[in-house]
Amino acid sequence: MKCSSCGASNRPNARFCRGCGEALPAQPAPNVPKAAPSSYPPAGVPYAAGTWQPTKDKAIAYILEILLLGLGWIYAGETGTGIAILVGWIIVGLMIGIPVDLATGGLGCLCTVPMAIVAYGLSLTRLSKYMNARPHIFR
Ligand SMILES: [Zn+2]
Repeated sequence: MKCSSCGASNRPNARFCRGCGEALPAQPAPNVPKAAPSSYPPAGVPYAAGTWQPTKDKAIAYILEILLLGLGWIYAGETGTGIAILVGWIIVGLMIGIPVDLATGGLGCLCTVPMAIVAYGLSLTRLSKYMNARPHIFR
């Protein structure tokens, strides 16, 4: 409530003005109506239908990801994740995995091929979930 002497705003139930110390008339707190819930967009509908169009193709993301792990993520807009996966894959998968396979005359494949399959499986599964959760971006 506003003080009638100095105009300072005070808490509704304040007995004295915090601006000038004047005694404030005892008065019940004004019944301020809460904003009507209907003024908010309904929960779970972040985008109004028709105002957006998917701009990216899931198939392109999958193809890029299969060509080189991480590329699909970069295409999907997760540049940081994509670069991390890409760098990890180049170092571990290509710079270590392939030399190990060559040095062991192919025996290393018993270890590196399953690792590569797991790496691809995890990355593609997570990329799929990421894109499915964003139907407004990916078609
Ligand atoms: Zn006052």
